[in-house]
Amino acid sequence: MVREVADVYTRTIFDIFQEEFVKSNSCSLNKIEDGTISKYRVVNGEDDSKIFTVTFHDSEKRVSCSCCKFEFSGVLCRHVLKVFSEVGIQTLPKEYILKRWTMSAKSSRQKAVALCCNDLCRDVIKYAEEGATSAVMYKIAKEALQKAFAEVIAAKKDVRLVEPSKHITIKVLVLIHWFVIS
Ligand SMILES: [Zn+2]
Repeated sequence: MVREVADVYTRTIFDIFQEEFVKSNSCSLNKIEDGTISKYRVVNGEDDSKIFTVTFHDSEKRVSCSCCKFEFSGVLCRHVLKVFSEVGIQTLPKEYILKRWTMSAKSSRQKAVALCCNDLCRDVIKYAEEGATSAVMYKIAKEALQKAFAEVIAAKKDVRLVEPSKHITIKVLVLIHWFVIS
């Protein structure tokens, strides 16, 4: 599975996926519901206080996890990968390979957007992990996020800030160059 997506994902996303794949090996699971829709309780190897529930629709090969990593980052979590391993799925289903994270997103604009998204995604994952460590941290993280999101939406309404300046365009081109050769 790792070798297969290495040729598909961008470098950054592949690194994130590979880390999840490696960490899936240290997860442990229990089947808690059987049938067409089965449920698994999955525990991170290094921290068994965090319990996640993975729901797997066998006929449609659809899957979801209570950690919601795929929903916010577009990359499957270690818990789902553990369940895939358990049920014998060795090829990543196409619907879980988002086009925006693939190298076939060809235009410069798409690459620039993917680059920014990759970078933000890394931050989001770290942010979510820190913010989910306790109820207090969650409250602080949630409020800070809402404030930041409001700032981004406000900035988006200001046309001057979203029009690409020459400086930004050059910066993006340099980043794309780095992205393509790395
Ligand atoms: Zn998960």
